[in-house]
Amino acid sequence: MRAYEGGLAVTRGKLLLIVLIAALIAAFIAFDLGQYFSLSYLKSQQAAIGELYRARPLQTLAAFFLIYVAATGLSLPGATILTLAAGAIFGLLWGTVIVSFASSIGATLAFLVSRFLLRDSVQAKFGDKLKAINAGIDKDGAFYLFTLRLVPAFPFFVINLVMGLTSIKSWTFYWVSQLGMLAGTIVYVNAGTQVAQIESAAGILSPALIASFTLLGIFPLITKKVVAMIKARKVYSRFTRPRRFDRNVIVIGAGSAGLVSAYIAAAVKAKVTLIEKDRMGGDCLYTGCVPSKALIRSAKSLSHIKRAREFGLREARADFQFADAMERVQRVIKAIEPHDSVERYTSLGVECIKGEAKIISPWEVRINGKILTTRSIVIAAGARPFVPPIPGVENVGHFTSDTVWNLRKLPARLVVLGGGPIGCELSQCFARLGSQVTQVEMLPRIMIREDPEFSEMVLARFREDGIDVRLEHKARQFLVENGDKALICEHKGRDVRIPFDEVLVAVGRVANTAGYGLEELGIPVTRSRTVETNEFLQTLYPNIYACGDVAGPFQFTHTASHQAWYAAVNALFGGVKKFRADYSVIPWATFTEPEVARVGLNETEAKEKGISYEVTRFGIDELDRAIADSEAHGLVKVLTVPGKDRILGVTIAGEHAGDLIAEYILAMRHGIGLNKILGTIHIYPTLSEANKYAAGNWKREHAPQNVLKWVERYHAWMRG
Ligand SMILES: Cc1cc2nc3c(=O)[nH]c(=O)nc-3n(C[C@H](O)[C@H](O)[C@H](O)COP(=O)(O)OP(=O)(O)OC[C@H]3O[C@@H](n4cnc5c(N)ncnc54)[C@H](O)[C@@H]3O)c2cc1C
Repeated sequence: MRAYEGGLAVTRGKLLLIVLIAALIAAFIAFDLGQYFSLSYLKSQQAAIGELYRARPLQTLAAFFLIYVAATGLSLPGATILTLAAGAIFGLLWGTVIVSFASSIGATLAFLVSRFLLRDSVQAKFGDKLKAINAGIDKDGAFYLFTLRLVPAFPFFVINLVMGLTSIKSWTFYWVSQLGMLAGTIVYVNAGTQVAQIESAAGILSPALIASFTLLGIFPLITKKVVAMIKARKVYSRFTRPRRFDRNVIVIGAGSAGLVSAYIAAAVKAKVTLIEKDRMGGDCLYTGCVPSKALIRSAKSLSHIKRAREFGLREARADFQFADAMERVQRVIKAIEPHDSVERYTSLGVECIKGEAKIISPWEVRINGKILTTRSIVIAAGARPFVPPIPGVENVGHFTSDTVWNLRKLPARLVVLGGGPIGCELSQCFARLGSQVTQVEMLPRIMIREDPEFSEMVLARFREDGIDVRLEHKARQFLVENGDKALICEHKGRDVRIPFDEVLVAVGRVANTAGYGLEELGIPVTRSRTVETNEFLQTLYPNIYACGDVAGPFQFTHTASHQAWYAAVNALFGGVKKFRADYSVIPWATFTEPEVARVGLNETEAKEKGISYEVTRFGIDELDRAIADSEAHGLVKVLTVPGKDRILGVTIAGEHAGDLIAEYILAMRHGIGLNKILGTIHIYPTLSEANKYAAGNWKREHAPQNVLKWVERYHAWMRG
């Protein structure tokens, strides 16, 4: 087991600063400097200090300024007395100017010290939990700070220190602090001009003044909320809201996201219309998960036949035609089709309409020349393969995941462009089905989202399968010369020519955001070109929602259905209660051999985010069932919080990794730790035992060594 302390190391610089601050605070206490920050001392010395100021104005001013900065920077008590003193010595105007700058600079110093000393470790420990807070701070930090500065209930030094732990920018912190503290500063400096009449510092703020400050503090927040409401109204202002609606919700697109949205709406007795321009079932059924997994099955059978000797068979041959495997894919689709059919959904209470929907107002959708009114809309229009504008790509008759299923003749030489999940799954499939596959990836490894060791495992297997994997090859141009096709790639500064018969482009997918009304309504898209939504999956128009591939950030069937629940429930019940889409435990798998499945963090991400972790591994090559199956390869890799039984993430590579990981998904979703997995009976001999053994390895590493020493002594004593 290995541990990584993300950002927890105390550098020499930090240590020095801690020592310096501790020494200064110690000196403050040891020399009882606090006595000089009292009202009585100020009153007794007022005349003398005034004299000094008249004799040496600049020096007095500078000394006062520095003392103020030091006191606030070190979070020492006394700022109130110093502020009164400023009024007493320098008068209202200059007193206010001096205190305003000195207090803001001092506060910013305290803020910076807190950030320098503590933020990394706090982020490392609570990074995930702080994510939401930091997102809020990025959005509204200045408003919150302003409120905190104005409301007298919050001690200023606490605000400085806590804000240092957030992601607010230093400059924002400085100017908002100066602005927010100004009103209070004026009140105290003004009181200082009458210091002789003041009996106690606490009496300066009357209850009425405290209430006014509090109101002033929350005013910007209220304003912001009102502005947001006005803005929301404004987006609707150019449309006429129908007086009544034909439907509660219209769902556009009947892929995984749309089907689940409609299903949920019908289940709660809403009037729902599902519009699909092509085939119910969308990508997953016709061009995605289902056909790819069906083809993988055929390819795997062939690979088993090739490996016959490993299974104790002298010889096995397949009488195999590629077209038959592709026809089987269509049969599998036909078998699943009824699950997503118009008939099934109609029987569930969903009105299904075939046609291309267009949103013409926030409450109106045009379909087949008719306008339907609806209270809410769920956009579930999916995504399509992205074909990069590589010169010549249009001349080579390229395939994508949309069209590859039409192939009936096995390409002799196939180039697969892309080393992501789709490119990897299909490369291995076609290689096993008999194509000479060259897989081209511009990055240094395939399956870049996974830890390098998993990329390596898959790469090794790909090479055994005869795939020519070209890493760090950037596709530059497609050529057709005398009927021969070739791809020119740039590799380490030189051109590499790869001849091929067919090319499959699998370099990513792009959301469908054009042509159905988003542009006209001004619904913005993100930088990754998905429809922009908030945490409730609302678009710019709060009654229009988006989910699935069209919304991102994940592009899986299970995440599409997960989001669909939030979109449908929020669309129907958002007026009463809205739910934030929860992405805390998102799993996925790439169905290569070895299969690679993941949930939560992997090591690469933990390092990038500076999150501390421990790694526990279990090599599946040791597992009885895997050995019996001649599939003794793969790894369970678990990341946990150092010293704690809390799972941060798991990656599994090996046979049925996508199924094995379900136990960890459940564990993470419900806060179950490795101790509980270890204490659960797993059937022998199954692959699922790998999970238990990984938990066992973790337990062994966390065995209480001191206690075990005593137990050993006990046993020795028992032996007599
Ligand atoms: C090769 C491949 C393999 C995959 N394997 C897996 C896998 O193993 N596991 C996994 O979880 N995910 C997998 N995926 C991803 C998965 O297929 C998608 O994430 C999922 O299908 C997204 O569902 P969706 O409802 O968001 O979009 P889609 O399924 O694309 O559905 C959108 C629908 O909207 C319709 N539409 C669009 N505009 C309009 C309009 N104006 N009017 C009416 N209808 C409209 C479209 O016709 C389409 O049917 C794979 C994808 C591919 C390409």
